[in-house]
Order: sequence, then C-alpha cells, then structure tokens
Amino acid sequence: MAWITDNRYLSQSEKENNANIIIAYYRAQGLEDRAIAGILGNIDAESTFSPTLTEDGGGGGYGLVQWTPKSDLINACSTLGLSPYTSGDVQIQVILREILGNPASINQWYTTSAFISNYYNFGASSDMIGVTGQQFISNSMNWSPEKMAIMFMAGYERPLANQQTIHWEYRQQRARFWFEYMEGQVIEADYIARIAPFIRVKFYITSEWWEQPRNHRGLDISTGGNDNLYSMCDGTVVLKAWDGDGYGNYMIMKDSTTGMGFLYGHMKEPTQLNVGDTVSKGQFVGIEGTTGHSTGNHLHLEMQDLSNHDWIFHADKSVYSNPAEFMDIPNQEGISAVYYGGISPDPPGPTPTKKSNHWKDFILSKRKKYY
Ligand SMILES: [Zn+2]
Repeated sequence: MAWITDNRYLSQSEKENNANIIIAYYRAQGLEDRAIAGILGNIDAESTFSPTLTEDGGGGGYGLVQWTPKSDLINACSTLGLSPYTSGDVQIQVILREILGNPASINQWYTTSAFISNYYNFGASSDMIGVTGQQFISNSMNWSPEKMAIMFMAGYERPLANQQTIHWEYRQQRARFWFEYMEGQVIEADYIARIAPFIRVKFYITSEWWEQPRNHRGLDISTGGNDNLYSMCDGTVVLKAWDGDGYGNYMIMKDSTTGMGFLYGHMKEPTQLNVGDTVSKGQFVGIEGTTGHSTGNHLHLEMQDLSNHDWIFHADKSVYSNPAEFMDIPNQEGISAVYYGGISPDPPGPTPTKKSNHWKDFILSKRKKYY
C-alpha cells in the first residue's frame, strides 16, 4: 500500500487508503484497537490523513497530526534517524515514539492536571490525569473509542482550547467511525474471564497441565510473542516476585469472590502493579515473556483455590486446579494442544495471527458454564 500524499483535504476513500496503512502498523506494534481509533479520530480531524498537509490559514501546522511548529516533527525525525519527514510511514512512527516519550527528549505526552484540566469543557475528565503513554496505547483503562479520542487530544494533540476550532465532538465521532471501520470489537466483561489472560490474539497451548514427566503444575499458553497479559479476575495482587530458576517474573492474583488464585509466570518484566493493588477482569497486568526457566515467550498459568489457604508450592496435584477448565481453549483454525519443550524460541504450529476477526466466534461458541 502506498500513501496518498497531497497537500489538500482527502476524500473518504483516500482517507481509508491511508488509514489502512496506519491500522496495520499500529496493530503490529500492539496498540489496542480503541487506542488506534482514538488516534485516527484525531488524525481525521487534524489533517484528513494527509501527511503533507500544511495548515489551512497559516497556523504553521504540518502533517498527519499537524505538528506545530513543523520543526517539532523535523527535530523528532532527526533524533530518531528517520527520513523524510514528509513520509506517512515516518510520521506514524514519530507519533508512537512521542506518545511513549522514547526517547524522553521527544516526549509529547503530557497528562498532568494542568494539561488535562485545560480540556474539561471539551470532553476531558479528571481520570485522564496521570494516564501514561503506555497505558494509552494498551488502553488498560478499558475506555471507549470516544474517550480515547479525547485522551489523545488532551494528552498529545493539545489543540487550542477554543470551542469554535477544537472540534472535540467531531474527533469522537470519527474515532467511533474508524473503530467500526476496523471492525474493532470489545469483549464484554462476561467473556473476558474465558479468553484471558490474552485478549484478541490467538494463543496456543504449548504444555498441558500436569503434563508428564515433570508434573507440570500449570498450563503454558503462548502467542509466540510479547503480548499483553490481562487479569482473569476481579481481585487483588497477592504476590509479586522473581524466581530466576523457575517462574522468572511472576505474580499471583486472587479473585475476591471465588478465592481462586492465578499465578502468571515468565513475564517479560515485573508487573507494574504491587501487592495489595486491586485488579479487574480484563485489566492489563503485564507482558508475556520468557524470564526464568523458559525456552520461549509464553505464559505459565497456574491456579490454586486460595479460599482456605495462602498459595503453597507443592508436589500434590490436588492443591492445584486445571486452568483449562476455567478458560475456553481454542481448538480450531490450526490451534492445537502441543508440547512445547524444544529449544526453539517459537512454539510449534502455525504462526499466531494477531487480532483475528474470528476471535469472538470461538469465544462465543466455546463458553463454559462456570466461573
Ligand atoms: Zn509452565
């Protein structure tokens, strides 16, 4: 796909051409669909997706998000070693790096009270204060496309807070449009427990519960990459630890209703949460990894009923629960239960396809009665 790059407002079909490129790139970078929609709603309002658009009326804005002054974009490109700045491909990389403040010298993400409160008359709300760029791109807040559009507007775009020119409702409308355009879907809370710890990616069972000969106490689940991990329960974090010979970075969450405990092992880095923090179903808690005793990126998911005791490490199978009975395991479209014990860093089987449009079908068709 090639960008349409004229210094003019683009038509709807031209916008779609450019939006397709952006959607593919940001999905590949792991951005959550509603976060992408929030960005697209703003790009639509700022530039109609035209990367070479120079601001109408001479305000000095330029490009997809109308960098003002234009030198902000040019300087960021030189910091990042990207060129030319007129390229849409370059600009969407710059946007992501500016959101994440990576490196800090090009940070454009500001969510202190002073910045956010500027937009209280234009859709912003106090819960946007302190939201980080990382939280924004993973939408760990679980916000709607409309709210993500305002978050991006207030945290990144920072347009003049003027009712005549800010077009905040239009940004929201366009975010909703692009969310539907990309067939973005949100898992209703009822289903989250059944697909978590991964949401909207295909995953593979790479080692079964109590698999021999090692009495494997958990279920190994892999997307093949470093995908986001989500809580399977409404509860609290009861342990956060490091185990260099075993679980690597790991954490345990306890469901406050059922008492069921969920151990997530081999996480890429320590969870940002702390012991005692509350978690809700579907909340982002960390990243799939391969720390500790592990041969490739996967989640070791282990479960114990903690309603009568704290977590214990034990050889006795009766202490543990089989996670497969608490989740729906996709078993079609090439997804199968296969042992993952080799030296390859990738699990066997077909490469997982991220953001499959089929994810909801298999969740709905394989719902279990309990949990
Ligand atoms: Zn394991």
